[in-house]
Amino acid sequence: MVLKTDSVKMFFFPFVGGGHQIPMIDAARVFASHGAKSTILATPSNALHFQNSITRDQQTGLPVAIHTFSADIPDTDMSAVGPFIDSSALLEPLRQLLLRHPPDCIVVDMFHRWAPDIVDELGIARIVFTGHGCFPRCVTENIINHVTLENLSSDLEPFVVPNLPHHIEMTRSQVPIFLRSPSPFPDRMRQLEEKSFGIVTNSFYDLEPDYADYLKKGTKAWIIGPVSLCNRTAEDKTERGKTPTIDEQKCLNWLNSKKPNSVLYVSFGSLARLPSEQLKEIAYGLEASEQSFIWVVRNIHNNPSENKENGSGNFLPEGFEQRMKEKDKGLVLRGWAPQLLILEHVAIKGFMTHCGWNSTLESVCAGVPMITWPLSAEQFSNEKLITDVLKIGVQVGSREWWSWNSEWKDLVGREKVESAVRKLMVESEEAEEMTTRAKEIADKARRAVEKGGTSYADAEALIQELIARRLARQD
Ligand code: UDP
Repeated sequence: MVLKTDSVKMFFFPFVGGGHQIPMIDAARVFASHGAKSTILATPSNALHFQNSITRDQQTGLPVAIHTFSADIPDTDMSAVGPFIDSSALLEPLRQLLLRHPPDCIVVDMFHRWAPDIVDELGIARIVFTGHGCFPRCVTENIINHVTLENLSSDLEPFVVPNLPHHIEMTRSQVPIFLRSPSPFPDRMRQLEEKSFGIVTNSFYDLEPDYADYLKKGTKAWIIGPVSLCNRTAEDKTERGKTPTIDEQKCLNWLNSKKPNSVLYVSFGSLARLPSEQLKEIAYGLEASEQSFIWVVRNIHNNPSENKENGSGNFLPEGFEQRMKEKDKGLVLRGWAPQLLILEHVAIKGFMTHCGWNSTLESVCAGVPMITWPLSAEQFSNEKLITDVLKIGVQVGSREWWSWNSEWKDLVGREKVESAVRKLMVESEEAEEMTTRAKEIADKARRAVEKGGTSYADAEALIQELIARRLARQD
C-alpha cells in the first residue's frame, strides 16, 4: 500500500569535505526527485561551494533547499586533520533548528560525532550516511570477528578474509590501523548505527548483490545509488559540490583532440597528498608507458610550506611537463577537476584511482576500468571489489595503509606504474574484457536509479517508511 500525505521533510547534514559532502548533496537531490522536501544543512562558507547547483535545481522546481547555520566553522583542509574537524560549534544551532522545524528524518554523516545525541534526544529519525559501499563492511566485520591479525608472521603475509563468497586476500599492512590495535572507533560506529533509524548507502544492488544482502540482513539499510547519476546536465557535472579551479574547456578541448578510448585519467581524490618522490615515480612510469594521460596533481604530503593553493608547487621531474606537452602525450592539471565530465569523455579508456568510493562508483558509471592504487580508509577493500570481484581493474601494487599525517613508508616504483598502465591501456584481450565488463556494469547502474530499478525502489521505500512513522506518531 502506498501512503499519501504531505511530502516528507528530510534534512541532510554532510561533513565538510569532498568525498563525504559531494555524495550527500547528491543524495538530498535524489530524494527531492522522489518528492521529499530535502534541506541541506551547511555553514555559510561551505554552502558557497554548492549554492549554484541547488539554485539551478530550484529553478527546475526540485524541492531542495540549503539551510545555512548562523555559526560557521572555517573551511579546513581535511587532508591535514583527517576526519577530526571540530564541528561542535554547530551543536546548539542544530538543536534550535530541529526544535523549531522538526523534520521527518535527518541524514547525518558518520563523522559528525556529537550530532546523534541531540537528534536522538529530540526523537527525530536519524539516518546514518557512511559514504561506503557494502563490500568493505563485510570485509571489515569478518576480519574483526574471525582473523587474529597478531598471529600473522609479518605485515606482508597474505591471509584470506573468511566467510566471503569470493576469495579475497589481504595483508595486515592493508588493514586500517584501527583494526590492527585496540581502538574505540569500530564500536562507536556500531553504536551510532544501532540506535539509528537505519543507514543510507551510496551503491546499487547489482554491483555487489551478495554484500548488499549481507548489509540488509544485519541492518536496516536503503541502497540508493549511484547518486552521482542525478547530475544530468553538463553544468551540474562541472560544478558538482564544488566549482572547478581547472578550466573545464581546456580539459575538454584536449580530450576532444584524442582518439576514443586512448587516454588514462589519473587522480587520487580530494584528500590524498602524495610525497614528491611518489609523484616523480608516477611521472616516470607514465612517461615510460608511452600512453596518453590527463593527471590531476594535488599538493604534496607533509610539506605544508611548499604547498600553495591549487598545488602550484612543482614536484615533478625536471622537464617532464614540457616533454609531455611537446609530444602531446600528457596534460598535467593542478587544482579541482571536473571529474564527472572527464570520466564520461569518449577519449577516456582508464582511470588510475586511489579507490575512494565516489571515484570508484563514478568510474563504474562511466564504464571505465581502473588501475587501483588504494591509500587509506576502506580503499584497500574497494580495490579487491574492483579487481577480484568485478574484475574491472588492475592493481598497481600498493601495499601499505596510510594514516593521516604518518610517514609515507612504501613507494610504488615507476616499473610497477608503467606495467599497470600498459596492462590496462595497451590493446589486449584482457583489457578488452575489462572494458566490456565495466560497460555492462555501467548499464546496470543506470537501470538501478531509473523507475523500476532497485535504488529507485529503495529511495521510495524509505520515504514510505518515514510517512508511516509520522502517521503512527500522530495516532
Ligand atoms: N573530485 C573532483 N575533482 C577533483 C577531485 C575530486 O570532482 O579534482 C570529486 C570526485 O569526483 C569524487 C570526490 O571528489 O566525487 C572524491 O571522493 P572519493 O570518495 O573518490 O575520495 P576522497 O576524496 O574522499 O578520498
